[in-house]
Amino acid sequence: MMNNKEKHVLGISGGKDSAALAVFMRDNYPELDIEYFFTDTGKELPEVYEYLSRLEGYLGKPVLRINPNRDFDFWLMHHNNYLPSPRARWCTIKMKLKPFEDWVKPFLADGYSVYSYVAIRSDEEFREGYQSNDENLRIKLPFAENGIDKQAVINILEHSGLGMPEYYKWRSRSGCTFCFFQRKIEWVHLMKEHPEAFEEAKAYEKKATEHGSPFTWSERESLDELSRPERVAQIKSDYEKRLERAKSKRIANPLRTHEEIDLDELYGKSKVCLACHK
Ligand code: SF4
Repeated sequence: MMNNKEKHVLGISGGKDSAALAVFMRDNYPELDIEYFFTDTGKELPEVYEYLSRLEGYLGKPVLRINPNRDFDFWLMHHNNYLPSPRARWCTIKMKLKPFEDWVKPFLADGYSVYSYVAIRSDEEFREGYQSNDENLRIKLPFAENGIDKQAVINILEHSGLGMPEYYKWRSRSGCTFCFFQRKIEWVHLMKEHPEAFEEAKAYEKKATEHGSPFTWSERESLDELSRPERVAQIKSDYEKRLERAKSKRIANPLRTHEEIDLDELYGKSKVCLACHK
């Protein structure tokens, strides 16, 4: 017997790729009743909420906020006040993946096939972690299947009128204000753009190190050290040098007018969290 119980879901991270995917799906598959959702850690940039509202306007429907039942402070305490890190990513598990699983579980239990649309682009490798253990939770990669690369994503957002999220002017990815995947130059930018969020991150770090946390937010130095004027100057100067080098190497391509040199190009690809950084 055919199973007509289908649910289509698309996670918005606050980043450009998932926003562009939402636009792409609305414009190309209007027959699908897609439910858009955002798992809110409560530690997001204000620009993310502003962008979500604009996206809702374009989509003509709300983006469901899925809030974890416990906040960051609870989970931090639960982990002995040890900060999350690339080696201990409890934040993603507890505050992004688990709330999503809890949300779809009742549908799966009720016999639904859940199609989850994920914004892996055609110029990215498909990474593990997006395969589901439940055969009725099916992962779809429309960008990879349709040859949509980074420039095409930017084009989709520009043509829709949404443009890029504001924070891309100073930061390369979405995610929590204090995400440990940030480069040092992004911490410097956070300090300038959102000094109160930087101070909050510093306070979490101080408490964590007092409790013996082996991790600081940024590798091998505390935010206190990173924010000293001489260190800030060093980080900025290193960034400028990398930028100059990258610009001089770049072969001009008139078709890719809007492509900017991003931090991956300057510092090499770093690990990202697909639940947060898409
Ligand atoms: S954005 Fe970073 S800090 Fe936030 S949940 Fe994702 S990995 Fe953790």
